[in-house]
Amino acid sequence: MKQFTVRTGARSEMIDITGRIRALLKESKMRSGICHVFVPHTTAAVTINENADPDVPRDILMELDKIVPLNDHYRHGEGNSAAHIKSSLVGASEMIFVDDGELVLGTWQSVFFCEFDGPRTRKVIVKLTPLESVK
Ligand code: ZN
Repeated sequence: MKQFTVRTGARSEMIDITGRIRALLKESKMRSGICHVFVPHTTAAVTINENADPDVPRDILMELDKIVPLNDHYRHGEGNSAAHIKSSLVGASEMIFVDDGELVLGTWQSVFFCEFDGPRTRKVIVKLTPLESVK
């Protein structure tokens, strides 16, 4: 199991971590298998979405704010219930196939770390599981 840290700079933010994952994959020399990306936090998440237009992550964060308002008479005393709810909606893990030593992602897809209660220093766990072939 490998891991790296992400330093976030805002309360809500989506940070492209595809390069960091690719670097771990290269280092491992794994040619074929499955890459699991896991975020061990209750107020952050991981998702795969468009990397070309920065307005896409901005729109995702904007709409999540509408679905889950920052203040809504939540009972959780820590004051970050919205972040907990967004974390569950987006999810703590992603699975990406690895073929020919590369992550199998669409042209416009990137893996994004989603911060919902920043700024903080966060952890991302990556598990690379070799398989004979995923074809
Ligand atoms: Zn909390």
